[in-house]
Amino acid sequence: MDLDLTAADEAFRAEARAWLSAQVPAVPLPSLETAEGFSAHREWEHRLAADRWSVVSWPEEYGGRGASLLQWLLFEEEYYAAGAPGRVGQNGISLLAPTLFEHGTDEQRARVLGPMARGEVIWAQAWSEPESGSDLASLRSTAVRTDGGWLLNGQKTWSSRAAFADRAFGLFRSDPDAARPHQGLSYLMFALDAPGVTVRPLGRLDGKPAFAELFLDEVFVPDADVIGEPGRGWQVAMSTAGNERGLTLRSPGRFTAAAGRLAALWREAPQTAGPALGERVADALIGARAYQLFAYAHASRLAAGGSIGAESSLNKVFWSELDIALHETALDLLGPYGMLADDADEAPAHGSWAEGYTFSLAGPIYAGTNEIQRDIIAERLLGLPKGRR
Ligand SMILES: Cc1cc2nc3c(=O)[nH]c(=O)nc-3n(C[C@H](O)[C@H](O)[C@H](O)COP(=O)(O)OP(=O)(O)OC[C@H]3O[C@@H](n4cnc5c(N)ncnc54)[C@H](O)[C@@H]3O)c2cc1C
Repeated sequence: MDLDLTAADEAFRAEARAWLSAQVPAVPLPSLETAEGFSAHREWEHRLAADRWSVVSWPEEYGGRGASLLQWLLFEEEYYAAGAPGRVGQNGISLLAPTLFEHGTDEQRARVLGPMARGEVIWAQAWSEPESGSDLASLRSTAVRTDGGWLLNGQKTWSSRAAFADRAFGLFRSDPDAARPHQGLSYLMFALDAPGVTVRPLGRLDGKPAFAELFLDEVFVPDADVIGEPGRGWQVAMSTAGNERGLTLRSPGRFTAAAGRLAALWREAPQTAGPALGERVADALIGARAYQLFAYAHASRLAAGGSIGAESSLNKVFWSELDIALHETALDLLGPYGMLADDADEAPAHGSWAEGYTFSLAGPIYAGTNEIQRDIIAERLLGLPKGRR
C-alpha cells in the first residue's frame, strides 16, 4: 500500500487532533470499572457523540462520519496519543455493531445503533459460562420458544462491566436436539434490568466491582431481538469474534501511544537503568510500529474487498504479548513506585502503568485464549494437521 496519506486523510487527522486537544480531560477520569468512573466515562461518550467522534467509521445516519478504515486507524492513533479516556461503550461499538452491520435487520440497526453511539445504552457481552470458555459451543444456557419470542435460562460469567451496563448480547442453545454443538444456537439481545435477570458482581483482586456474572430465569426476549436466523447463532458469533481479535478491539494506536510513553519514561530514567532495559524499550517501539503497519496493510486489503479471517488470530496473539512486554518494561523502569495503585498520591502517571500491567495479563485470556489462537494459526494459516482435542 501507499503509506503517503491523502490531503483528506491529513485534514481528518488534524481535525481529530484539534478536537481532542481541546476536549480530553486534563486529569484522568476515575477507573471505568467503578460506579463513579463508569458514569464519568458514559458522560465522555455523550461528549464524543455530540461532535460525531464516537463512531467515526459508521455511516452518518447512525451518528458516524462515514470515515474509511484507514481514517479510523488515524483517529485511534490521535485518541490514544492524546491520553483520552477508555471507551466504556467499546463492547457495543466494536463487537455488537459490526455484527449488526453484517447480520442485523434495518429495524435493529435503526433502533440499536444511535443510542449505542451516544453512550445512552452501554452493552455487555454474555458469552462465557462457568463450564464454557474456550469451548464456547458447549454452552448450556437455553432459549426456548414462546409466544412472540424466547425465554432465556441459565448462567453467564466473566461479563465485562455488566455490573453497570444496560443491555447484553449473548449466545443461547435454542435447539437441544441439534446434531452438533455448534448448531442450534441463537444470538440474542436482552436488557440487564429485565424481569428474571440477576447481575452479581464478581470479586476482583483490585476490589473494582464492574465484572459480573448473570443469572437468567425465564427472561423474555422478543423475536425482534434475535440477530440472524434462530439456530444459526454460531455463524453470527464468529463474525463478532473476528472483530474482537482483529482490528476493532485493540487498534495499534493504543500501542504506539503506550510505546511512545515508555520511550519518554526511558529518557527520564536514571542512568542506572542499563542497556538491557533500553533494548526492551526499543523492542516495544518496534513491535508497536510493526503492528501499526500490519494494520494498515489489513485496512487496505479490506478496502479492496478482502477479508481478515483466521489472520485475526495472529493479531490477537501479537498485541496481547506486546502489551505485557511493554508494561513489564515500564514497571522495571519505574522501580518500586511503579507498583503503586491509581489511588496512591505518589503513583507515577496516576497509577496507569500498574493498572495497565495487571490488565495486560488478561490479554492472553480474553477474546479467545492465545493457546486456542495458536491452534487456529497452526491449522488454518500454516496448514498443519489438526491437534487432538
Ligand atoms: C479480563 C477478561 C474479560 C472478559 N470479558 C468477557 C466478557 O465480557 N464476556 C464474556 O462472555 N467473556 C469474557 N471473558 C471470558 C473469556 O472469554 C474466557 O476467560 C476465555 O474464553 C477462556 O475461557 P475460560 O476462562 O473458561 O478458560 P478455559 O477455556 O477453561 O481454559 C483454561 C486454560 O486451558 C487452555 N485450553 C483450553 N482448551 C484448550 C485447547 N483445546 N487446547 C489448548 N489449550 C486449551 C486455555 O488456553 C487456558 O489456558 C473475559 C475474560 C477476561 C480475563
